[in-house]
Amino acid sequence: GTGAALVTAVAYRLAAQRKQIDAALAPFLLSLETLREVKNKMRTELEYGLKRETQASATVKMLPTYVCGTPDGTEKGKFLALDLGGTNFRVLLVKIRSGRRRSVQMYNKIFAIPLEIMQGTGEELFDHIVQCIADFLEYMGIKGARLPLGFTFSFPCRQASIDKGTLVGWTKGFKATDCEGEDVVDMLREAIRRRNEFDLDIVAVVNDTVGTMMTCGYEDPNCEIGLIAGTGSNVCYMEDMKNIEIVEGNEGKMCINTEWGAFGDNGCIDNIRTKYDKEVDEGSLNPGKQRYEKMTSGMYLGEIVRQILIDLTKQGLLFRGQISESLRKRGIFETKFLSQIESDRLALLQVRRILQQLGLDSTCEDSIIVKEVCGAVSKRAAQLCGAGLAAIVEKKRENQGVERLQITVGVDGTLYKLHPHFSRVLQETVKELAPQCDVTFMLSEDGSGKGAALITAVAKRLHNVGQK
Ligand code: BGC
Ligand code: MG
Repeated sequence: GTGAALVTAVAYRLAAQRKQIDAALAPFLLSLETLREVKNKMRTELEYGLKRETQASATVKMLPTYVCGTPDGTEKGKFLALDLGGTNFRVLLVKIRSGRRRSVQMYNKIFAIPLEIMQGTGEELFDHIVQCIADFLEYMGIKGARLPLGFTFSFPCRQASIDKGTLVGWTKGFKATDCEGEDVVDMLREAIRRRNEFDLDIVAVVNDTVGTMMTCGYEDPNCEIGLIAGTGSNVCYMEDMKNIEIVEGNEGKMCINTEWGAFGDNGCIDNIRTKYDKEVDEGSLNPGKQRYEKMTSGMYLGEIVRQILIDLTKQGLLFRGQISESLRKRGIFETKFLSQIESDRLALLQVRRILQQLGLDSTCEDSIIVKEVCGAVSKRAAQLCGAGLAAIVEKKRENQGVERLQITVGVDGTLYKLHPHFSRVLQETVKELAPQCDVTFMLSEDGSGKGAALITAVAKRLHNVGQK
């Protein structure tokens, strides 16, 4: 009768729907073979960045940091640190004690950087930073002190020494004018001079990956890699000097800031980029740039999800076919929402509540699909990140010429720390793709701030020795 016909029709519609959803998500499923290919390509790009003849045109820039060792526990003193380029902008006071009672004490304050400052002029940005430092010094009651400062600046910088860094290009949400090609330490010094209220001794400019590696290296000397999986994505590691062709000298090691976020900017992973990735790229502040970062980091995963949801809605598979105002809004799916949606402990009803908060009216069916979409996007991100990291640890193993490598990776970043599955999938992928490496992952407690202070302490110690 009609009842049976209706049931058949519904079943038919559901099967058709399923097919369309599977088709949209299929390009996010990466085979082991594809991941191996990604690892191999990453390895090739790492080499290009290190070689004299190819480094100028390399997409993975492999920037020397002039950090040549991990801390040894003799570091001490009081330092200021700035942390710019992550989820928050912070100013910190760090007290390091050496010897038997070695310890690190920190005080910090978070400041907002309004969008119009992130994307205004360079002068405004640095004036704002100095304003925040002034507030912090006032707040801590140390306005008169002339403290050494370490500047964690989480963007690609070409360095000629530890206290000089020319910005190669903004990434993530920043786009202040007149900064690219300039020395960010000079810009900070000039802003301090303009304010004419206090003096600071800027000793080091540090990438967040390097700060993270140093912080973990303080506890574990086997930590020679720093990974950030947060708003952005990047890795640094200790490379043998003899392999760094653009820096004089063949003895010892130096930390290389890979800037692997730019992996793929030459098109080498276009075969795995989906139409959603391309849309996210085109709508970003830096189209064509940071293609790997845009597939693997917190600032963009939510955007990929949003593009898929828009597409599925257009196909009539979601939200009753209605694209709401909220779904049109860039950046609505922050890492914290993705993490909540994918949490296994969360009932579907709660998923619907989160979507509700974001202004998305969903049915129970919708919420299942949204969760599935989030899962596909974040799993691919973790696998890609794992494939990249496998290339790094394999390179370290070959450098050391050992059959098996034991190594620790210091990690920080909201995606790694907040997401319920990212870290596990990342680790599984590394294990699968670099079976000869035993990799320990060490979470850094406040890597950027503490690390900048530790590097500043080391630089200061070496500098003072040099002056004598
Ligand atoms: C920047 C890197 C940084 C990473 C993580 C990327 O966008 O280019 O310098 O380490 O984000 O913050
Ligand atoms: Mg950070």
